[in-house]
Parts: sequence; C-alpha cells; structure tokens
Amino acid sequence: MDYTPQQDRYTNGMVYRRCGNSGIQLPVISLGFWHNFGFIDNYATALDMVKYAFDHGICHFDLANNYGPPAGSAEENFGRMMKQCFAPHRDEMFISSKAGHEMWDGPYGGCSSRKNLMASIDQSLRRMNIDYVDIFYSHRYDGVTPIDETMQALVDIVHQGKALYIGLSKYPIEKLLYALNYLHEAGVPCLAYQGRYNMFDRLMEERHLQICASKGIGVVAFSPLAQGILTDKYLNGIPADSRAARPEGYLKTSDVTSEKIAKVARLKTIADERGQSISQLALAWVLRRDEVSSVIIGARNLDQLKDSLRTTSKLTLDTSEINRIEEILK
Ligand code: NDP
Repeated sequence: MDYTPQQDRYTNGMVYRRCGNSGIQLPVISLGFWHNFGFIDNYATALDMVKYAFDHGICHFDLANNYGPPAGSAEENFGRMMKQCFAPHRDEMFISSKAGHEMWDGPYGGCSSRKNLMASIDQSLRRMNIDYVDIFYSHRYDGVTPIDETMQALVDIVHQGKALYIGLSKYPIEKLLYALNYLHEAGVPCLAYQGRYNMFDRLMEERHLQICASKGIGVVAFSPLAQGILTDKYLNGIPADSRAARPEGYLKTSDVTSEKIAKVARLKTIADERGQSISQLALAWVLRRDEVSSVIIGARNLDQLKDSLRTTSKLTLDTSEINRIEEILK
C-alpha cells in the first residue's frame, strides 16, 4: 500500500450527520465520481483528491455504474485506488453505487429490471474491487419497469449481501411513496434519497424533503454547486477548461444564463462578508436544512476540493443572511 492516512482525519474539521433515523452517520460533505474520475481524466489528480478527501474526514464516496467516461471507468479507477491505497480502510468507507441509466448495449443495459440490477451490482463490485457496496441506489424511476420488480431486486441484493442498504434517486413523489412503502414492508427500509438540490434548483423543497423527514430517510443532495455555476468561475465568461465548455460535460453553455450569473454576483457580496467563497456559501445554504444529511460535491482538482471542504468551518447561516439570499434567488 502506498498510502498512510492522516491520523487526525476524523478530528480535523469534518462534521457528521445522522442519515435519517438510521445508525449511519455521513460526513456533511461527500465526494462524487460523476465527472473527473474517468479514463479521460488524470488518474494521479483523481487519486490525490480521494486521498485528501479521506485525510479530511470524507468517508463517503458516491459512484454509479455509468460514471466515466467511458461508462464504468470511474468505478474501475476507484477499484484501482482501493487496491493501491484504501483496501485496509474499507470498513471506514461508505461506498455507494447505482444502476438504472443506460450502461450496456441491448434491452437489458438500461432501466431498472431485475435483469439489469442483478447484473449491474455484480459488474460494479468487480470494477471497484470490493465485496459489497454500503448503499445501492436505484438511479432513477424509469417509467417502464414495474416498481415492485425494481424494489424486490433491491431487497434481494441486500439479502445476497452485495449491499448493506438501499437508496433511491430521482423518483417522482407518488412513485417514491410507493417504493418507500414496499421497501419498508419487505424489511429493507430505504436509507437515503438522492436528489438534485441547490440554490437554483429547489424542487426538492416542494415535497421530497418533508416526506423524507417524516419517514426517517436521509437526504443526500447532489450537484449542490449547480455543476459549478454557484462558484466564481463563470462570473467573467466561460473558461475553456470548465464543465460548461467541455464536450463531455453535462453542463451546457446555455445553462449558464446571464440571469443566474447576476444572482451569483450578488451572492458573492454575502459570501465576502462571511469571509467565504461563493461555493462555501452555496454548500452551507444546502446544509441549512436539517433533512440534508450530506451534500455530494464534484471536484476537478485539489484546489476545488480544498475550497469546498473549508465550508465546515462556517456552516451556520443566520436568519438575516437566509432572508437576503432568498431575496436574491426569488
Ligand atoms: P457540483 O454541483 O459540486 O459541481 C461540481 C463541479 O463544479 C466541479 O466539477 C467543478 O467544475 C466545479 N467546482 C467545484 N468546486 C469548485 C470550486 N471550489 N471553485 C470553482 N469550481 C468548482 O456537483 P456535481 O454536479 O459534480 O455532482 C456531484 C456528485 O453528485 C456527482 O459526482 C455524483 O456522485 C452525484 N450525482 C448524482 C446524480 C444522480 O442522478 N443521483 C446526478 C448528478 C450527480 P469544472 O469542471 O467546471 O471546474
């Protein structure tokens, strides 16, 4: 093993929150592998980020079968890291994967059939060089597969010992309620719901947050920086190396609107007053909600990761700050 983790990793600043009513605590900041960890990216940079994250109390790493590009390569790189550095620390890590988006050719390579989920979990475990995932998510409600089929496959995956917990992601509210009930009745309750939540996307506030709280399910918020818009990077145009500029990025230049950037510029005043970066303010804002157990950040390099991690030194927003942010966002 060519890595010795920092001894003070659990006492050097990270804050942990209970995930719903479960026995699991998650770091308020988790690291996601959607972008920046595939074969097209620099492996050494990716490894440095994971080491730095682990050294600073991030023990939750979020993956999915299709992360890359190419699809599967983020899990393969993670598996290489496990072998190279983290295998002795497996019990300190909370690793998630997901299935449900298009992954391989043919009629079974996408959606959330039993056929897809059973094959996918095995593929993910092989790629990541681990025996089980801590949480396996249904990545989305696909609108085609009967929910009972998807839920029973998830329950069986837990019974087979391939996942410790189940999670759901991007489910419309009625489908979510049905799925939660199914899992509860089956004795494998849903641990966490993963949804997009940031200053520019507040759909989760309509019902998902409240329902998760009432059912004792933790909320794990993804894209808390709106894929980078809620940082200072787009204040003066679109940098060539940004996600919006790169062809493989899921952020389109058309998403970076002048209206949003004007709001980000106003948010910067509040961030400056707090002695924070815009990204730190944006993360603290998501974490102001008690229902949110963790935000999953993306980072392209160590500087971005360090910046986001500093959020934990000033998490609380007072009422006047929250009201001023509300005024800007409305
Ligand atoms: P973010 O909103 O945190 O966006 C991350 C991007 O923002 C980075 O790649 C970088 O983009 C930019 N950025 C990050 N920090 C800084 C900084 N300090 N200063 C300037 N720019 C910064 O999250 P993601 O959209 O990447 O999503 C995070 C994770 O959530 C994913 O990796 C995945 O694990 C999960 N997820 C889950 C989904 C689901 O369906 N369940 C869907 C989407 C994500 P740049 O390259 O431009 O520098």
